[in-house]
Amino acid sequence: MQALQLEKPHHFRFIEVPEPQAPGPGEAIVAVRAVGICGTDYGGFLGKMPFFSYPRIPGHELGVEVVAVGPGVVNVKPGDRCCVEPYINCQTCHSCTRGLTNCCEHHQTLGVHCDGGLRPPRRCSSSGRGRSASPPSSLPRCRVLA
Ligand SMILES: [Zn+2]
Ligand SMILES: [Zn+2]
Repeated sequence: MQALQLEKPHHFRFIEVPEPQAPGPGEAIVAVRAVGICGTDYGGFLGKMPFFSYPRIPGHELGVEVVAVGPGVVNVKPGDRCCVEPYINCQTCHSCTRGLTNCCEHHQTLGVHCDGGLRPPRRCSSSGRGRSASPPSSLPRCRVLA
């Protein structure tokens, strides 16, 4: 399966990535159907985004379709269209344990600090824990794991 990787500023390349493993408890497999491109991505492409690291699979504004769910998942089902919370927090640091997940000491943003959505289906958590922003309320939500 191929993904699009920004190897370094101004240089994209296709890379091979492994098929996702079957979803575990509380997880889902999602296929990316749409990716928004914003100033963060453009800054990463230009090499002017200070938080961006390389090489990186970009993509943090993701419209996805659930293709499989693991045991215990009740909030999404195959065929559901979702948006993805791109902010990943640890749930264990000083900030997270006080509910300030946007201040997580180990915060990562998909497609910026870790690989994002310009790739084939990937494994996600379907839990809502740790979200700091809300997608449109008409869509079910899932959260992608790093
Ligand atoms: Zn953005
Ligand atoms: Zn944290």
